[in-house]
Amino acid sequence: MNNEDLRQTILVVDDEIANIQALGNLLKDEYRIRVANSGEKALAMLNDASRMPPDLILLDVQMKGIDGYEVCRRVKRNPGTSSIPIIFVTARDAVSEEECGLNMGAVDYIAKPFNPAIVRARVNTQMRLKRKTDLLEQHALLDGLTGVPNRRHFDDLFAEEMRRCLREGVPLSVIMMDIDDFKGFNDNYGHGEGDQCVQRVARALSGAMSRAGDRVCRYGGDEFVALLPNTDATGAREVAEQLRAAVEALAIGHQYSSAAPVVTLSLGTASFDPARDSGSALSLLGQADEALYAAKKAGRNRIG
Ligand code: GH3
Ligand code: MG
Repeated sequence: MNNEDLRQTILVVDDEIANIQALGNLLKDEYRIRVANSGEKALAMLNDASRMPPDLILLDVQMKGIDGYEVCRRVKRNPGTSSIPIIFVTARDAVSEEECGLNMGAVDYIAKPFNPAIVRARVNTQMRLKRKTDLLEQHALLDGLTGVPNRRHFDDLFAEEMRRCLREGVPLSVIMMDIDDFKGFNDNYGHGEGDQCVQRVARALSGAMSRAGDRVCRYGGDEFVALLPNTDATGAREVAEQLRAAVEALAIGHQYSSAAPVVTLSLGTASFDPARDSGSALSLLGQADEALYAAKKAGRNRIG
């Protein structure tokens, strides 16, 4: 068994230590518990990008300073935290209060003094739902055949890296890649072999990326794209050569390729350095595509 704690996390927010302890004791065997004894501290924890967001927030309504309703409002307003489910735990149990909390986007409402079995049951229900939502979201971002990020995920990652590139003034590179003469591979070895080939290529590409921030995504069909944050043109060409060599080294036989007796890739790189280049980085993908086209024309199994 590995040591990684895979339990879901609950953030308990309450300004009375006795309540935090009671809820913590009730739930700590099944869930990882984090605590905040004020609205301010809860928001600071939730806005700290270096921390994983919790899977659920148990939120007291009446607190000194920023109260639970205001915490809820701010959590729901922030796109980075808005999907975290919130259960209000409060001594206020008037129906209008409950309605107010639910209208604010809370998923449930527990009145104090609470019944331990009911708290546990309601929390478990929300946590099961959260796990399913997480799984669905994960699947929506990954390519079904290869398990690497899909085009949709790439578009988000690319936009995010582009913003960072401009904000921090660091270079950004992309590599477009396409399997050579893959139609001939499918036509002659069959679609099943073709699928396996795409999977092996994806794995080889992912394995050949050495830096933590580098990503390989399936752009569609037999096309892949690599996103290289903080990498200039020289670095991008080096990575491209590693990727090209990694696929060639798989030595998947391809008698019908015009480039080599094995499956190979053609690649095109493009880089943007806000410190040196004028204009925009938006044409980066188009430039990489042009470079890829040049590599195809020049004989394939090479970097354009
Ligand atoms: P080029 O070197 O110019 O890229 O030639 P190509 O034959 O690879 O180019 P083309 O775009 O004509 O063909 C790509 C082929 O890739 C078409 C399709 O049959 C195949 N393909 C795309 N996605 C998949 C997939 O998921 N599985 C399989 N088996 N084949 C795929
Ligand atoms: Mg191709």
